[in-house]
Amino acid sequence: METGVSLDEAIRISLTKPLSRRTERVSIEEARGRVTAVPLISKVDDPGFDNSAMDGFAVRVSDCEEEGARLEIVGTSQAGGASPPGIGAGQACRIMTGAILPNGADAIVMVEDTEIDGDHVVINGPARTGFIRRKAENLSIGQEALPSGSLLSSASVALAGTMGHGEIEVITRPRIAILSTGDELVQPGKDLSHGQIYESNSHALASLVESMGCEAVRHESANDSLGELRETLDSLSYCDAILTSGGVSMGEWDLVRKIMEEEGNLSFWRMKLRPGGPPLFGTWNGTPLFGLPGNPVSSLVVFHVLVASWISRSLGYHHEMGPSLSERVSVRLESDVSGAPGKLCLRRIRIRSEKGELLATTHTHQGSGNIHSMVAHNGLTLLPPDTDGKAGDVIDALWYR
Ligand code: AMP
Ligand code: MG
Repeated sequence: METGVSLDEAIRISLTKPLSRRTERVSIEEARGRVTAVPLISKVDDPGFDNSAMDGFAVRVSDCEEEGARLEIVGTSQAGGASPPGIGAGQACRIMTGAILPNGADAIVMVEDTEIDGDHVVINGPARTGFIRRKAENLSIGQEALPSGSLLSSASVALAGTMGHGEIEVITRPRIAILSTGDELVQPGKDLSHGQIYESNSHALASLVESMGCEAVRHESANDSLGELRETLDSLSYCDAILTSGGVSMGEWDLVRKIMEEEGNLSFWRMKLRPGGPPLFGTWNGTPLFGLPGNPVSSLVVFHVLVASWISRSLGYHHEMGPSLSERVSVRLESDVSGAPGKLCLRRIRIRSEKGELLATTHTHQGSGNIHSMVAHNGLTLLPPDTDGKAGDVIDALWYR
């Protein structure tokens, strides 16, 4: 068991017990929000044939060089219709957006630039080759357009459809149990006695777990009792992983740490992180378990920097296209921000874009119990150990999505 590990070490150690990756096929109707388990290859050319980008007339450019040219209309090409007749010199074919380009045509005139004169059309505007959409100009058959590990957004579901995939191989959502611990915790909506507080961490963690493409199994919070904790952890070890919050510090009642030390299999305890120093990682009955701190900011921050990475690397999420909670950016500080001796410092910052750069300020007070600071801000500094940030410095930061 290691103590006081850096973030990189914590990620490396936790990945020795990765989340298990399973896959399943889902229909395209159910694919949004899922993550591709294999690269998606196009089954077709897109477009599959040369077609018109406009409603108008398919023509030959050489026939339209003079304003007011009069061309004979030889037929109509409709979207989804049969192949239209070809055109020769002095001829045109009525054409709709998406309809097959007639043989012999090399340009389109928009309907707005034409006038009908019996079975002829008078051309009053430009004949543009750019109004033809060429076969395979978007995608060619066999092309890998969506890498494995991509989050299926609305647009990528449409892309999968365009490529002909009625079913998609996706990563099975791992089940992640969430258990908050503490005698003082009461579910929101109930009455509080003096000394009690509303339990909030499990709601944040469940939502983060879902945002990372997993299924959250939220459990009622457990009291600070070894017996209850043991029983609850046993009952949750059918899940693919367990996240607990609270009870991992040095205190007498920090029973998650105690039970993991005595009965679990502990890989590390405590990280060189502020806030978020006390987390632990190990297994309970073979199930990977993160013991997150109880302080609301700390538990969220540790999820952002550690657990999200573990999920994403275990499951092979694509670094750009996969589910993620934040983006790593460079920001210019507008005020001094103090770092932490020996620890990576994650101060909450508000990031905004101005005149081509990202500026960062801090507002509310930064206590690790102040969940409001996570809402009033939209990012975290990544100040290296023993490094203060001065107004004007450009530093690394995480910008929440
Ligand atoms: P602990 O890590 O158990 O010592 O808890 C640290 C602080 O976080 C205490 O003030 C707890 O009351 C608070 N806390 C612990 N768990 C939760 C929770 N699930 N929701 C909100 N606050 C919590
Ligand atoms: Mg506690």
